Amino acid sequence: MQELLTLIVTWLAITFGLPATDELPRVAFVSPAEMVDIRLSRVETAAEGSVMAEPRLSTPPEASQALYAIYDDHSRTIFLPERWAADSPSDVSMLVHELVHHLQNVGGLDYACAEARERPAYQAQARWLEIFGTTLFDAFEVDPMTIHLRTRCMH
Ligand SMILES: [Zn+2]
Repeated sequence: MQELLTLIVTWLAITFGLPATDELPRVAFVSPAEMVDIRLSRVETAAEGSVMAEPRLSTPPEASQALYAIYDDHSRTIFLPERWAADSPSDVSMLVHELVHHLQNVGGLDYACAEARERPAYQAQARWLEIFGTTLFDAFEVDPMTIHLRTRCMH
């Protein structure tokens, strides 16, 4: 896993100019139920006024979102689904997405809102999928309009 993380961090730095770091995130594999708990606890934290790493989601967490990964800025941990597989391009693309958030966090990059922080993450994820001949829509049924809404500031 460390080699894969280093490879993706290097790829992100070269391809997107994100600040590279030797500080790799922790990676934890969690069940779907644990993923929902983590996501809900983060929404509560955000309600108390701190910045949320992921934007508010229009779909309930128990829907498709629960299958995805989460990055926690505070503990610098990427949570992946327990069924995650390193030989699946779509699974690795989730890691790519969350590693962008890690580089944003460690690099201290500022964004106008939580949604704006998502834009480079989705761009990198889409590019990674492209290398393997697939798209966000084919792999996750995420269409361009959804990406647009998730990556633009609402206020
Ligand atoms: Zn994200």
